Amino acid sequence: MPAEFETVIGLEVHAEMNTASKIFCGCETAFGGEPNTHCCPVCMGLPGALPVFNGGVAEKAILAGLSLGCEITRETVFDRKNYFYPDLPKAYQISQLYHPICQGGGIELASGRFIRLREIHMEEDAGKLIHDPWTESTLADYNRCGVPLMEIVTQPDLRSPEEVIEFMQSLKSILEYAGVTDGKMHEGSLRADLNISVRRPGEGFGTRTEMKNMNSFKAIQRAVTVESERQIALIKRGERVLQETRRWDDNRDLSYPMRSKENAQDYRYFPEPDLPALHIDEGWLNEACKALPELPKAKRERYFAQFVLPRHDVEILCQTHALTVLLERTAEQGASPKDAANWILSDVLRLCREREIEPAELQLAPKALAEIIAAVNGGRVNRSGGRALLEHVLAGEKAVEAAIAELGLELAGDENALGASIAEVLAENPDAVANYRAGKVKVLGFLAGQCMQKLKGRADPRRVSELLREELAK
Ligand SMILES: [Zn+2]
Repeated sequence: MPAEFETVIGLEVHAEMNTASKIFCGCETAFGGEPNTHCCPVCMGLPGALPVFNGGVAEKAILAGLSLGCEITRETVFDRKNYFYPDLPKAYQISQLYHPICQGGGIELASGRFIRLREIHMEEDAGKLIHDPWTESTLADYNRCGVPLMEIVTQPDLRSPEEVIEFMQSLKSILEYAGVTDGKMHEGSLRADLNISVRRPGEGFGTRTEMKNMNSFKAIQRAVTVESERQIALIKRGERVLQETRRWDDNRDLSYPMRSKENAQDYRYFPEPDLPALHIDEGWLNEACKALPELPKAKRERYFAQFVLPRHDVEILCQTHALTVLLERTAEQGASPKDAANWILSDVLRLCREREIEPAELQLAPKALAEIIAAVNGGRVNRSGGRALLEHVLAGEKAVEAAIAELGLELAGDENALGASIAEVLAENPDAVANYRAGKVKVLGFLAGQCMQKLKGRADPRRVSELLREELAK
């Protein structure tokens, strides 16, 4: 039975571009910093200060557009979006309405459904307001004013929370590959506004509500689900959905109305008089095409063909650009890609989860990972020792060799020590030996465990089992 209602979602995704300086002045864009220290008269909007466009921003926007299959607008201009809010000291934002830098393009989902983009435009970010409950006052930090943003606008093509998450993950991945944003959602460098409406299949679009600044996949998934349920309930009761902006409260798992939704004409847009039009010529476009890196889809196919890895592993690896960089550089340092992939998918990802950081933030030298893999494969250190090494190397940036010595992880390499412990264990466990020889081979694990205990874990378990088997066969 077809569902009675269909959810329609369109996204406006803001991605902070990772240029060193701001979009219209030379102030630094680094996250954080003492409040109001990355500011100048231009980004503070002081009277008489004039913006100068940072060409690096257009380069990043063009790279993003080419990566997403967009058409690049050859004559692009800025527009002034007028509104007052305390985080915007100029009382207008320089943005693009009429001739955005990229148009069209899109992303194909695994189902084969193509989610169309309407446009990508460039604009400046606003500051941050910090509400202090103790003094019941609000403080303004303008460090973020003028940080360059790309706003990626989709057509209302998404139909479920799952599709929204898949689209966002894919978009994040492509933008990271293109090297235009660091994608750190928890720092707000990638955040989405959700436009949500519901309709009965076959009907025109329903009235939409908007939820702004969503910066976690979990919150996005819940917000789409809860908002579409709220709208369906309203319609079923015979009430109307109001066009409004709502705020999502992640702790209470619900949204509440913030203000009625503005339309473009409410902002009194007009062409920005302080900036000339930007002409993107053939030469510039050709340079951008040359700078275009291998994108997720091509990388997936190459890994699959070249590295003989399971498809599922390849998909997880290729979703995060930082992981593919680590894999490729570790392989350059002599590790086999298969080993590198196994370590990354198990231990490296576990460390990221434990530390609640993105793989890009993990300061792991590929050389160190390659050395750890070599030590484990060579039987010098066992697998759990390798894990301990990984954490040790990460914590103190120590060299792997020094860490092996410091942690005492070197396995008892000499066969005499192994042989002696095996002889002792066999003498102490005559029943187990008899059982093994009677065909109950499972007791080998028990005997090996006893040997490992005597050697205080400092032995290669594979070698211990091998020697045990030889001894028991005599
Ligand atoms: Zn500035």
